[in-house]
Amino acid sequence: MSDLRVYFGEFMRQFYALEMSGNFCSHACAYCYANLNKPDRAANPTATLNVLKTAQDRQHKDLLARLIVEKYPVVMSNHIDPFSNSNWRIYRTYIDIFRAMKIPFGFQTRGAGKQSGAKDLLNDVITDGVPKAFFVSITGDDEKTLRLLEPGAPSYKERLDLVEKLKAYNHPVIVAIAPYIPTWWRDIDAALRTIHSLKADAVFITLLHFSLKQIANMTPKAHAHFSDAIDKAKKHEEKNEPLFNEAERVRRTAKDIGLLVGSYSQNTYDNIWRVFYPAYPKRFPTLYDFVDWCAQHKQHGDLIYWKDYRDFFLPKLPKLQPNTYKLDSYIGASSRQLWSTYKVPAKMTYHQLLQLTWKEYSVSYNPINQPPFLPLIENGKFLTDEQNLPIFQYSPKSFTFGQD
Ligand code: SF4
Repeated sequence: MSDLRVYFGEFMRQFYALEMSGNFCSHACAYCYANLNKPDRAANPTATLNVLKTAQDRQHKDLLARLIVEKYPVVMSNHIDPFSNSNWRIYRTYIDIFRAMKIPFGFQTRGAGKQSGAKDLLNDVITDGVPKAFFVSITGDDEKTLRLLEPGAPSYKERLDLVEKLKAYNHPVIVAIAPYIPTWWRDIDAALRTIHSLKADAVFITLLHFSLKQIANMTPKAHAHFSDAIDKAKKHEEKNEPLFNEAERVRRTAKDIGLLVGSYSQNTYDNIWRVFYPAYPKRFPTLYDFVDWCAQHKQHGDLIYWKDYRDFFLPKLPKLQPNTYKLDSYIGASSRQLWSTYKVPAKMTYHQLLQLTWKEYSVSYNPINQPPFLPLIENGKFLTDEQNLPIFQYSPKSFTFGQD
């Protein structure tokens, strides 16, 4: 399988349309979802180069090829760190090819591994004069914990140095406190002040959660360290109230310091991703962008119709021939429930996909699952329009949590 793929899993959440994978990440974070999900992850440069080479010819039948040809941006990477010792060599090739093909890309990273080639590659993409998105993960200020549980990743100090250098070269930077584990921090409030002083554009805070499959693949060391989170996952306890409240305190502290803050776990709707947009004129639209649009064009209590949603999203998505492109994975990645109860057509256009996601509440990015939208209910029934499609209400004042 190619390392370059359609970014099905973050449709409507990320402006990237494509994502990369590679080899098992040697930064070796003990909780790494990607490493735990696929311990035998291996890059496939042959398949990847083939996909890039043949994209032009296959663009009329293959979504990946079409998105490559249309030069939508690529995230490097949601599964591995491109600057880890185990990945920088292959990424040096991929980056050269993307530059030659003028395909834009951005990074999710903790910084370079110890090998000089990894450091050189990172330095190269920082200093090449092209602004790029850098989502830099900083998970603790306690070096002892980092060495023990993120043994291949850079130190806290090195990650701060990276943020400073990125800003010196005018790259937009979001610092990801992802996951936020309170015991990994000696003084997170001081760290936030430092991050602000380094001129990071935003912080993103999210919490740890494990699937049973990930737990099964953990080392004994990780198992012992994350025993509380594992217990909760095994009991299917979705929410850890004290941890959630502490994360909310951190979010507010960051805001008070002057940082733009985003979070998936905390159900806020701050659109931090827009700090990356000037570097990516062409990108996929997100639900956060739609929330911004509503803030500009709607008042609290106004109704939101399918037409509003369609007219916002559709012009920003690629035009596709009906019954040609396989888009069902956008649904499969977000709603297993729908997958098992409804016959999702494999081949769709983005128009059909949008309509499905608008009317199916189990899809994670249906507006019902996102503040500041509420369903319109009368006499206990969801109200619909003349096409039997739901009507939502723009209702920012109804959501106090996560707002200021
Ligand atoms: S740096 Fe990211 S991809 Fe690599 S091991 Fe850590 S969490 Fe996983």
